[in-house]
Amino acid sequence: MAYRTVYPYTNEVLQTYDPATDAELEQALAAGHALYKQWRDADPAPRARILRQIAARLRAKRTEYATIMTHDMGKLIGESEDEIDLCAAIADYYAEHGPAFLQPQPLPTNQGKAYYVRQATGVLVMVEPWNFPFYQVMRVFAPNFMAGNPMILKHASITPGSAAAFQELVTSAGAPAGALTNLFMSYDQVSKAIADPRVAGVALTGSERGGASVAAEAGKNLTKSSMELGGTDVFIALDDADWNRVYKLAPAARLANSGQVCTSAKRFVIAASHYDEFLEHLKAAFALRKPGDPLDPLTTLAPVSSASAKKKIQSQIDEAVANGAQVYYGNEPIDLPGQFVQPTILTGLTPDNPLYSQEIFGPVAEVFKVDSDDEAVALANDSNYGLGGAVFSQDQARAEAVAARIETGMTFINQSLRSVPELPFGGVKNSGYGRELNELGFSTFTNEHLIVAAPQD
Ligand code: NAP
Repeated sequence: MAYRTVYPYTNEVLQTYDPATDAELEQALAAGHALYKQWRDADPAPRARILRQIAARLRAKRTEYATIMTHDMGKLIGESEDEIDLCAAIADYYAEHGPAFLQPQPLPTNQGKAYYVRQATGVLVMVEPWNFPFYQVMRVFAPNFMAGNPMILKHASITPGSAAAFQELVTSAGAPAGALTNLFMSYDQVSKAIADPRVAGVALTGSERGGASVAAEAGKNLTKSSMELGGTDVFIALDDADWNRVYKLAPAARLANSGQVCTSAKRFVIAASHYDEFLEHLKAAFALRKPGDPLDPLTTLAPVSSASAKKKIQSQIDEAVANGAQVYYGNEPIDLPGQFVQPTILTGLTPDNPLYSQEIFGPVAEVFKVDSDDEAVALANDSNYGLGGAVFSQDQARAEAVAARIETGMTFINQSLRSVPELPFGGVKNSGYGRELNELGFSTFTNEHLIVAAPQD
């Protein structure tokens, strides 16, 4: 596959990149393995200092890095800048807490003095998607850098500029060679790396299809894996919701990042009492979005990431409509050369509609009407995915009861789902397994080494 930056606003090829050679892969594995041996028993304090330096550099070069991401995949420049801020916060979080996460954890037992200590396990391969080109990498990089696991990055083929910039960021902050090696690898080279005995794990964020292939390679080699995959998150508004809050938050919950977020609110599940009014509010907010150059701070609708992404979204809308869904708003062409998709609202999706059980990765909202909490929960759980979601009700106990019944990894109440360093991120079902961020994300690829000393006589 070709690694190249094509600006989705103009379709101009801005840069192409040479593919990695097998010799480069071998060099990265050798350097990473040597560093693992050195890092495993070393004081983590110097690594914490480098992470702090990375956070400082991100803040200092915020707009420069943000522009690279926008050129790669077209997101609004303001959203790119927010992403850089979040990456700096993640780096700071692990610099601060990583050393404590590496301290021995005592275990009560009558077998003597017992504890486990988290230790590095070796080189990791990370396979990352284009939708958050820095943040997805940072979620794996920061905890594993602190834990002492060197990494080899295979980024999405459409975001090579971001991949190269992330490598430059880590190197310029003083990280030793092999700490993070970005390689423009083929799928075969990824499989080869996973099969290498020096590799202890593979972290993938991406689609169900990509995840299943990489997890199969990992399984064949008994290599540990974590999978952060797609979602069909619900945004449930119960009849006693604060509707002004719902109307304020719902549009961005779907349209942020042009709808290309694994945890976008893809299914709005709305109490019958407010269904019609909700649709009107969502339509009014969607209609306000102004397409344009994502580098212009006044633009409020960015293109989607590529021509093929746009084609796929359109084919999913067409198929949904052919199978009985109604277009409540949108689905009109936008007269600009870039890869624009008009924000669109679909209703009338029945379980036999193909889209009902698919993820749609663009600015398309599916809206459902429900008559009870039970119906809302049943609809939420009628999905192969189980990533995140949100529940709105002014009765918090009621919202918490509904949240607990939803089969996902994350549910937010009276607010849209958001990612912060201290809260774990991840899902169940076909949304994958494992967690990133928080202390849970720190231990995804560590060895919890149990040590037990016999009781003294
Ligand atoms: P994708 O096609 O699976 O690609 C993701 C990454 O995997 C890319 O680097 C891709 O490389 C690579 N890849 C795919 N198949 C591979 C294989 N057989 N061997 C080695 N590498 C392989 O996913 P996408 O469509 O670009 O990304 C969007 C998806 O990611 C959505 O489903 C979204 O919900 C999900 N996502 C999940 C999370 C989460 O945290 N749960 C976060 C963000 C996005 P190429 O680019 O070279 O094909």
